[in-house]
Amino acid sequence: MEQVITSSFLEDKLFKLSSFTNDWLTAELTPEESMKLTMIRKEGVPTGVYTTGNLGYIDPKKVRSYFCGECGKEYEGSPELRIYIEFGDERTGRHIIGNYIFLHYEETKLHGILGGPVLEEDAIDIKYIVEDNSGKFIPITRERIEKEIEKAHKRVDDGWKAFSEIREIEKLSKLAGFNFDKKIKELRKYDEDYEFKRYNQPENLKAMVENLSETMSFASFDYLESTGKRDTIEEFLDRLPKLTIPTELKENLKFVINSYTDLYEEALEESKNELRETKESIKREESEIKRLKKLLKYAH
Ligand SMILES: [Zn+2]
Repeated sequence: MEQVITSSFLEDKLFKLSSFTNDWLTAELTPEESMKLTMIRKEGVPTGVYTTGNLGYIDPKKVRSYFCGECGKEYEGSPELRIYIEFGDERTGRHIIGNYIFLHYEETKLHGILGGPVLEEDAIDIKYIVEDNSGKFIPITRERIEKEIEKAHKRVDDGWKAFSEIREIEKLSKLAGFNFDKKIKELRKYDEDYEFKRYNQPENLKAMVENLSETMSFASFDYLESTGKRDTIEEFLDRLPKLTIPTELKENLKFVINSYTDLYEEALEESKNELRETKESIKREESEIKRLKKLLKYAH
């Protein structure tokens, strides 16, 4: 009996994989890979969709089609793949060296289809790497660091903090063995000076509120965190009680606060769902244990 179940499971080659709520990839997997999958049991997710679990990187060659929840359509082939390799000293212990994400392009918009960690042992194709902060796949050059410094300056000019960018530039130059101390010091001073101006000059406050409002029109927590913009928002909100906001900025400000609240409400909903699922699975496991214990009598 056991053999029959195993072989029919192994005969399946195409699996629907999902890591977000409404999207999935259909990929051809080996039996070993398919053993690492877990079926998703969630309201709104059709049966037969699996989480990628500890599958690691999925080669686009294995992808046959995908469903984009945002577009509500299924597409042939693989969506675009992007791989980000992290600094060597981060996330150690779990053999995770970075992240990958499959994206569907719809005109100028990007729709995330599936994402997950890249593990040390994964055979990744270098052509999909858009950023390598470890220098292991794509060597870190002086030009790259110069470009990052330029980008950080631009970010400050646009009204954002460059704190995490500066930290990354420091790490990159240390990893590559270049001395950028002087330029980094200048950049830090530029960021700190702007920091002061940011809240004390009306035109900067205006740029900041408008930037925040534009960002919040599409942002998710993941986006805000990965771009370091969450720090900027948090700091702005901390200072808000002491700021004088001009009347013409109040609509924008209201939008920023409301949108940020919405993100928390979504997160709360998600946590509640997870809690409900955990409770259900505890019940299932408890009753399974009871059933198995009862079955023990047949072994006596
Ligand atoms: Zn789409």
